[in-house]
Amino acid sequence: MTYSVKEIYKTIQGEGGQSGRSAVLCRFTGCNLWSGRQKDRASAICQFCDTDFVGTNGLGGGHFADPRALATEISHTWGISMKYRLVVFTGGEPLMQINKILLQCVRDKGFEIAIETNGTYKVPDDVDWICVSPKAGSKLVQTNGQELKLVFPQNGAMPKMFEHLNFKQFYLQPMAGPYLKRNIELAVAYCMRNPLWRISLQIHKIIGIS
Ligand code: SF4
Repeated sequence: MTYSVKEIYKTIQGEGGQSGRSAVLCRFTGCNLWSGRQKDRASAICQFCDTDFVGTNGLGGGHFADPRALATEISHTWGISMKYRLVVFTGGEPLMQINKILLQCVRDKGFEIAIETNGTYKVPDDVDWICVSPKAGSKLVQTNGQELKLVFPQNGAMPKMFEHLNFKQFYLQPMAGPYLKRNIELAVAYCMRNPLWRISLQIHKIIGIS
């Protein structure tokens, strides 16, 4: 299998329960809930995406002919230290491409593995940190993991709809865009009233890195 990757770079994980932690971010090309093209946004299931996941032209991006080649690139991007290695697979929707052999190859390089998914595919075994971010209008099939991170507010995806699911942590992440300030206020007010939920801010934007 050839993996199609938008970008690979070392950064600080900016969102959710692992935020603040150094990680290699590996962003796969493509998503099943939007083509990534502006002309399709209005008809997409997910219409508020703020991520460019089209093509392979980002930093470290490309086509990787086999899982070992991709794992090696991820390892090179981290550097020589073997301590606290963390890779975050994201997208787009990473589970359109991730398979067990890739996970094993990355594991062999000493990495802890995190996945950020929209939850419409089952996550394979052997993932350390599963972050599911449900999207209104899509069918959620991954109903357990370490964190559920809901972009808020979303018509048709109210927090209460997810509280019974088997996640250790529940986050509301204020929707980015022109109404961010208002959305932060709404999320703060919701978390104050419903303490199961915690705020997730995109700290990579606050500290000015990608
Ligand atoms: S599911 Fe995620 S990657 Fe796909 S369009 Fe929505 S926000 Fe973007």
